[in-house]
Amino acid sequence: MSEKATCRGCGRVLEGHPYHTGKSAWIMNHRKYGLIRAPSCHYGGHVCSERCDVKACRELEGSMPGYSGEPRRLSGNLDREIARKWDELRREYPGAIS
Ligand SMILES: [Zn+2]
Repeated sequence: MSEKATCRGCGRVLEGHPYHTGKSAWIMNHRKYGLIRAPSCHYGGHVCSERCDVKACRELEGSMPGYSGEPRRLSGNLDREIARKWDELRREYPGAIS
């Protein structure tokens, strides 16, 4: 296991703790808001952006047995779940989260 915190979507090294430790990692240290916590991907792992969140979920679903092969949609309500999570972060930290 890596001893560095990384984004599961893009692989970028984040400040903080690796996901398997159960502790937080940070998307950034914002000049106004301070440390902004990286949310977790639905399937586990830190993610640093909505795009990375979607990408990580797609990759994981694509590797699951019984995967339908439909490339654009995630299973169940996961697309909506991810959008809601990042909308909340954008409301919480206006201007900081793209
Ligand atoms: Zn990322």
